[in-house]
Amino acid sequence: MDIVDLTRRLVAIDSQNPGASEGAIVDEITVFCRAQGFNVRRVEVEPGRPNLLVTVDRGPGPHLGFSGHLDTKPVGDALGEWRTDPFEVTVDSNVAYGLGTSDMKGAVAAMLLALQRFAAEGPSGVLALVLTADEEQGSNAGAKALASSELPPLDALVIGEPSGIERPWEALHLVSRGITCFEVDVRTAQGHSGLSARLGRNAVLVAADIVKAFEQFHPPVDEPGLVPCSPTVNPGMLIEGGVCFGTWPGRCTVGVEIRLVPGMHRDSVRSTIRRLVDEIVGETASATIRYHDGSLGWMPAVGLDPDTAIVTAAQRAAQRVLGCALPIAAYPGGTDATYFMNTAGIPTIASLGPGWLSVAHGPNEHVGVDQLHQAVELYAVLAEEFLAPPGDPRDGATDP
Ligand SMILES: [Zn+2]
Repeated sequence: MDIVDLTRRLVAIDSQNPGASEGAIVDEITVFCRAQGFNVRRVEVEPGRPNLLVTVDRGPGPHLGFSGHLDTKPVGDALGEWRTDPFEVTVDSNVAYGLGTSDMKGAVAAMLLALQRFAAEGPSGVLALVLTADEEQGSNAGAKALASSELPPLDALVIGEPSGIERPWEALHLVSRGITCFEVDVRTAQGHSGLSARLGRNAVLVAADIVKAFEQFHPPVDEPGLVPCSPTVNPGMLIEGGVCFGTWPGRCTVGVEIRLVPGMHRDSVRSTIRRLVDEIVGETASATIRYHDGSLGWMPAVGLDPDTAIVTAAQRAAQRVLGCALPIAAYPGGTDATYFMNTAGIPTIASLGPGWLSVAHGPNEHVGVDQLHQAVELYAVLAEEFLAPPGDPRDGATDP
C-alpha cells in the first residue's frame, strides 16, 4: 500500500484526546496487521483506551521496537483556521495536510510499511511496533502503564515524533524533556481599596512580582547530561486573583511550568523555587506552592548516550537514506521516552520521524509527501542496521 493512502486511512479516524480516543484506530490497524500476518496484541489498561503491540519475529537476534502514539491533540478552537478538512488528507504541492499527519500518524503509517518490508526481506531478529494511547494527555493509559509490565523484551526503541522544527529531519533527538508544573497561592490582607495606601501591597501585585521573577529564573541542573540543552521556564501560564472593584485583593494564584532537562533533581529544583518565592514575598504576604499530581507535577527528562548502538545504527541509516548523519539534539517537548527509559530501562531515541513539531497541535498540520516516503525507507534500513550491523554474520541476510 502507498504511504499516503495508509496515512489517509489513519487520519480519517478521529482519535482526538481528549475526545474520541484510540479504540477505532486500533481496530483499523489490527485489521491491516492481521492481513499481513503480523502478530498483534491489544493491551487495554484503561477501558476504551487500547494500546497495540505488533511483532514480526524473523528468528534469533536482537529485538528492535518502533513506537508512535495513536492519539492526536484536539482540533480545538482552530477549526475555522483549517483550509481543508482536518480528517481528510489533502495533498497540495507535494504536502499532505490533515490532523496528525506530522504528530504522528504519518510516522505510524511509515512504521507499518517498514514492518511489512521487514517481514518480507529483513534480517534475522525481531521488529516490534509499540503503538500507544494517551500520549497527548500524560500517557497514563499508554506508555506509562505499558512500561511497567506489558512491553515485549526490546533492546532499543525509536519514537517517530516529528524531527523537524524549521526543516525536515533536522536532528536526531536523544533527550526527551521533562516537566514540572506548580501554582503559587499568594495571600495578603483583603480590605477597602480607599485605604490602599495603608494596606500595603496586595496579593495581585505580589503575584505579578513572582511572575516577573520567574521570567529571569534559571533552575539548577545538578549533573548536566551528554547532550547540550537547557531547561525553559514558562511563567504566567495562568493567573487568577482579586474580588471586585472597591476591594483590595487578598488572594492571587499564578501558574508556572518548567521544562526539565536530564540531570535536574526534584529536591534541589523545589528548594530553589521555594527560596525565590520567599525572597519575593518577604514579610508582606504569605505564599503556598502547590505542585500538580502525577506526570505534570514532576516528569523527569531522559537522555540517551550518543554512543549507544541504536544511535550508531540510526546515523548509518540516515547516511544511507537522507545522505548525511544528523546533528544530535534535545527534543523540545516531552515524549513516551520518559517511561520507556526510566520505567522499562529500554534505550530510546525520543524523536526520529517525518514532519515538523512546529506545525503540530495547530491548524493546517502537514507533512511533506517526500518525507513520508523517506520515513518508510529510513525505518526499514534502520531495522537492518540495528539487527544486522556491518560485520555481523546476519548482515545482508534475506531469509532467517
Ligand atoms: Zn506527538
